[in-house]
Amino acid sequence: MNIFQKTESEVRTYSRSFPVTFSKAKGAVLTTEDGKEYVDFLAGAGTLNYGHNNDELKQALIDYITEDGLTHGLDMQSVAKENFLHTFRDLILEPRGMGDFKVMFTGPTGTNCVEAAMKLARKVKKRSNIISFTNGFHGVTGGALAATGNQHHRGGMGTSMPDITRMPFDGYLGEGVDTTEYLDQVLSDPSSGVDHPAAVLVETIQGEGGLNAASFEWLRNLEKVCRRHDMLLIVDDIQSGCGRSGRFFSFEEVGIKPDIVTLSKSLSAYGLPFAVTIFRPELDVWSPGEHNGTFRGNNHAFVTAAAAFKTFWSDDRFEKEVRRKAEKLRNGLKDIIRTHGAKSLKLKGRGLMSGIECPDGDLAGDVIAHAFEQGLVIETSGAHDQVVKCLVPLVITDEQIEFGLKVLDKSFASALEKRQSKAS
Ligand SMILES: *Cc1c(COP(=O)(O)O)cnc(C)c1O
Repeated sequence: MNIFQKTESEVRTYSRSFPVTFSKAKGAVLTTEDGKEYVDFLAGAGTLNYGHNNDELKQALIDYITEDGLTHGLDMQSVAKENFLHTFRDLILEPRGMGDFKVMFTGPTGTNCVEAAMKLARKVKKRSNIISFTNGFHGVTGGALAATGNQHHRGGMGTSMPDITRMPFDGYLGEGVDTTEYLDQVLSDPSSGVDHPAAVLVETIQGEGGLNAASFEWLRNLEKVCRRHDMLLIVDDIQSGCGRSGRFFSFEEVGIKPDIVTLSKSLSAYGLPFAVTIFRPELDVWSPGEHNGTFRGNNHAFVTAAAAFKTFWSDDRFEKEVRRKAEKLRNGLKDIIRTHGAKSLKLKGRGLMSGIECPDGDLAGDVIAHAFEQGLVIETSGAHDQVVKCLVPLVITDEQIEFGLKVLDKSFASALEKRQSKAS
């Protein structure tokens, strides 16, 4: 028994899928203490969009630390925060028509900024109900957990969590059914049993829920329903944001205008904890300190985030590269599906948030276990852990994508062979 098994709580997860001890990481490569290298198709569950230990970001951080720049600052003004706000506004928000958005620094995790978003929506609209969707994942503290679909996660709370109404996500009732029509009808009927919600909380591409990408039409219809029924539209872009879809925000291409957006995971760009809730200025009804938190001033994260905006988002070269790589990855996944079972396997997701849905979780589990043996770190997601999820760093090289695809191809072959020999 090692120290992790002996002392770390049973709650641990990823260490079970990847029972080796990592010591170093660079770009899209993880290295164990014994010097074995793995290509990283997990990227900190979407936290390492710019790869591990990016040189430019690292240098910015080292310089800042060497000069004794502020590390912790509550929510005081600091030069690092000033630079972050300037670059975020000038390079990200302004060019996307969101230059007047307010930035709220919440506690440093994704679940913190979701809690803040829900609290703000309820405060603004003076209503408690919020709509969230089947298979949605929004975090594991009280309010955010209530909005999360996954029963395993909600069960961890041991108590009921009210004030959320769950609606079917796009595609939940099969193709050809627009579930926003159902939502619209329920909200138009005073006897439907659904109280008038303050907001709708949605992921445009559900990450943990199994790479369910909502169609652009569905998202536009959802926005219309929000406007029709005076509800705020909250997009949880924690996993699908920061470039993963091929644009900075996952909703840019869709053309919808959310009222509130949550960002975390890759926001710091360096794997440092950092989250913000951003919203239209008229929603800024907070009084000073009404919502706070000790770790809202992670200045190291401000430094690396600002450096990433300058390095990757000063022009459109990076996003174009992401879209090119996404096409390469998705074409490779399509080839795997053609080779190993066009009927039973399905391409999921959008952009560099793509993967393959298997008929069940056992097959997907076998695939990722085989992949790990061959030097690929990759996880599953979905209600039954049935989706093999490729969450590569956006800076991954073409060769690394090709390596991963080759490993996945072999892993599907092995997993299916095992299944067949069991059946016969
Ligand atoms: C990861 C995630 C969260 C929760 O973030 P934590 O930092 O784990 O609290 C919330 N929403 C989405 C969409 C996520 O992917």
